[in-house]
Parts: sequence; structure tokens; C-alpha cells
Amino acid sequence: MNCRFAAAILTVCLCCVSHADVHGQVPAMVEFSALGKSQRGIPLLRLTHEMVILGRDGWMHSLDPALPESQIRETNQPFDPISAAELRNELNGEFRRGFEVQATKNFLVVQPEGRGDRWPKLFEQSHRAFVSYMSRRGVEIREGSFPMVAVVLPDEAAMYREFKKLDIEMKRVAGVYAGESNRVITHDGGRRSITEATVRHEAAHQSAYNSGVHSRMSETPRWISEGIGQMFEPAGMTNARTAAQLSDRINQDSLQYIKQNFSGRDDVRFSQAVMQLVSDDTLFQSPDTTAKAYAVAWAMMFYLAERESDHFAKLLNQTSRRPPFRSYPRAERVKDFEQFADCEIFEFSKRVSWYVHSM
Ligand SMILES: [Zn+2]
Repeated sequence: MNCRFAAAILTVCLCCVSHADVHGQVPAMVEFSALGKSQRGIPLLRLTHEMVILGRDGWMHSLDPALPESQIRETNQPFDPISAAELRNELNGEFRRGFEVQATKNFLVVQPEGRGDRWPKLFEQSHRAFVSYMSRRGVEIREGSFPMVAVVLPDEAAMYREFKKLDIEMKRVAGVYAGESNRVITHDGGRRSITEATVRHEAAHQSAYNSGVHSRMSETPRWISEGIGQMFEPAGMTNARTAAQLSDRINQDSLQYIKQNFSGRDDVRFSQAVMQLVSDDTLFQSPDTTAKAYAVAWAMMFYLAERESDHFAKLLNQTSRRPPFRSYPRAERVKDFEQFADCEIFEFSKRVSWYVHSM
């Protein structure tokens, strides 16, 4: 997610987005203009030059209220999230010729006409497996406020055109979860095994942000969110028959990376990477270190999920409760981690290293 929120929190009229506050009142919506149309939504953050609004359709908009084109107007209407039927109509209008919208229990899947139920099934199955895996480990799950939208474009070129339209600067990917739109966007023109692994990764982000495992309004350290994305790439994670076996839940790409790039269980560089990931997100920002960041993040989250599930649940439950629109400084990240994992980072990194090298 990439909003421009200021670090300081000013007027956050949060309460609960879809629930009445303690006085029984639901915060009122504003009308605004974004993406070329007039919309309504709930303001989450009000600064002099930035307003963050959650639209009825689940989009998160960041607007400058001082600009006339934002056209922000107060209403006295309570927030009412869009219904699946209404959203389906909107998607039919947005994706016209050659597309169809298929509904499942939790998703609206936009796809090229006549592609059957492969994609809807993949999204629905991934979400259910995510909810089940998390619940069994004590992670708090809540019902999402919006139907989740997945957009499957016919090929890679069409997907990049859609990225451009939405200002998404991603290259060499098979799909993405776009935080502002709350959509997964992928394409149907690549090698099935690679695309499906990416879709399971991106769908896990979407499930996490829509079930309260992460908050869309507060910062989640990248190693936590990407560690979860990596965890759900293996097909075995979404297949009830094979998910029972540990070997089917292992992300083989991440495991191979670690075995090839770290020299055994006591490699001090592994501990350094763990410390860096807990402290800040810099390893994810340089192309030279992203592969390492994803692999080590996977190892940390997978170890917690499989071996210390109470710490895994505490880490996720507490991180998602952080105050909205506030930065998460390094010292706080380190202190929180050592408290949630009940262990110093160095000791933790040794346990993770031993665990993955024993696989
Ligand atoms: Zn990811």
C-alpha cells in the first residue's frame, strides 16, 4: 500500500469502519471525486493537505481536500459498504467487452469470457485455506467488509496496461495485490504453475488485509506480510488433502535459497539478515537483497507458524492492533518483536536457522 499519510496522527475519525461507535452513531460519509467519478466513503484521516477516504467499494483514496477537483462534501449518511450485487454491476461497467464477472462466496472474479471456474475456484480455495490455517493457530480472523475483487487479464500486456492505469509500478511479476484498490490483478497468459504460485502469494496478502490479520490503516513490517505471502505459495497450502503434511507446506524456492546462500546452521549472516528484517524494510528495497529478504522472511514466519504458533498468533494479533497512520520506528519494532516472540532476536535467528537447515 502506498498512501502518502503523514507520520503524525491528527484527526483520525476511525471508530470502527462498519460498526457503530460507543454512542451508537456511525461516522458519516463524505462525497468526493476520484478516478473520474463521484463517490462516497468514510474519511479515515483528515490533515490540511491530505484526506484518506475508504470508499464504499473498499478502495483507499488519498486526496488533497484543498484542491477543487477533490470535490469533497460532507453528508449525513452513515457508512454502508457496497453490496456484492452493486459491485458486480460496477465491474461489468468497468470491464466491458470480452469479460465476465463470476461470483463466489467471498470473491467477484473478473476474467476473460468463457474461462470457466478455474480462477474463481483458485481464489476461493486460497482464501478458505488461509482462514483455516490462521484460525487453527489462534490468529484472530474477522469477516471482511467488502467482497474481494480479483481481476484476471487475458495476457501479460493487458495486465501491464491495467497497472499503468492504476499507477502501479511493478515489473516482471505474474500478478499483484494492489493495496489502494484492494484488488488482486493477474493474467491468464503465462505458465500456469508460476502464475498460480504468484496468485496464491498475492491472494494471501488480500486475505490478510481483508480478514483483519493485517490492518489496512497501520504499518505492517514487510517481513511479516511478505513472510505470509511466501508461506502460501506452495500448492499444498491450499489443498486440504496435502496440507496435512509438513513437506507440502514448505516453500521450496525459499528453502533452496537459504540452503544455497547461507553456509549451514551457524552462519552469522543469517542472524544479521533476521535482525535487519525485524528492524526495518530496507532489505526489500534493493534489487540486490530482495531475494534474500523474501527467503529469510519466509523462514522466520514459517518457523513461528509451525513451531511456535502462540508467538505467531501474538505477533499478528498485536501488530494489526497498532494505532492507525502512525510510523513504526526501528526501536519499537525490535522491542515488540522480542516481546511477542518471547526471545532475543539473535537467539530466535539461531532457532530459525536450525529449523530450516534440518529440512
Ligand atoms: Zn508479496
